[in-house]
Amino acid sequence: MPRSRHAQTLAHPVTLSGHGLHGDLPCTVVLRPAEHASGILFRHLPSGVEIPARAEFVGDCSLATTLVRDGVRLQTVEHLLSALMGLGIDHLTVELTGAELPILDGSAGPWVRAIQEAGIRQMAVWAPALRILRPVEVQSGDKWMRISPYPGLRVAYTIDFDHPAIGRQTRELTVTPEKYVRDLGRARTFCMERDIEYMRSRGLAKGGSLDNAVVFSPEGPLNDSLRFEDEAVRHKILDLLGDLMLLGAPLEGFVEAHRAGHALHVDLARAILANENAWTLEMAETATPGRHLFGHGLAAAHAFPA
Ligand SMILES: [Zn+2]
Repeated sequence: MPRSRHAQTLAHPVTLSGHGLHGDLPCTVVLRPAEHASGILFRHLPSGVEIPARAEFVGDCSLATTLVRDGVRLQTVEHLLSALMGLGIDHLTVELTGAELPILDGSAGPWVRAIQEAGIRQMAVWAPALRILRPVEVQSGDKWMRISPYPGLRVAYTIDFDHPAIGRQTRELTVTPEKYVRDLGRARTFCMERDIEYMRSRGLAKGGSLDNAVVFSPEGPLNDSLRFEDEAVRHKILDLLGDLMLLGAPLEGFVEAHRAGHALHVDLARAILANENAWTLEMAETATPGRHLFGHGLAAAHAFPA
């Protein structure tokens, strides 16, 4: 696997519409090819506010990952970001008519199909990998995450729910676009039947249904079927990849996660960025290795060497 590659965007714009999971409001999303190395940029059309998909703009992440800037909150960005990470899209403008991304079928599958339909275009700039040189760890009670050096992107995720239909699930894989499409992108978000009352009482999951989430009762899923026997842990990896997209560069390392969630995923991303001795931006062989910081964070863009 090459350490660095050409940056990628879409070949054509593509549009998706639907309702948000938590607010149940309609939202139309246009994915527009980037003209230059902008990173992933969300543009909230009603306000005109633009929010880069970077860890420094994360607000809360109790049940979904929310980006916040200038009074605008964009909710549930992680499934789209996961599809972009999985397929290697580095630069893109995401125009939104609402403040929560559509939940669609609860997975990243519809985003993957939209990206495939639009086509992927190579850009005339590099996308240098953020290569981990030393381990970085974060912990919260019995939940922990660690990233260590690895030549590629590898993930080992364990969930352990006190629930008979989910229980303990572990999955480990090296992430490639092919494996993402086949093994991860279609895994749907999930919840426990016992939590629905509580979420509704807090005004959350108003748009949730068996069409966009797996709901587990103690006897098993209320949905007709699962897409994978261990769909829950696969979805957690999907979420993790979306949150790691907030690093702003393709990642090279081995990520271990134990009972983690959005908050700890984002903590790890922030801990990596804060620990500058733990990583380097790996340029292509023909270029000089080095580290370039743009503005307040990383931009995965460097001039393509002649
Ligand atoms: Zn999710």
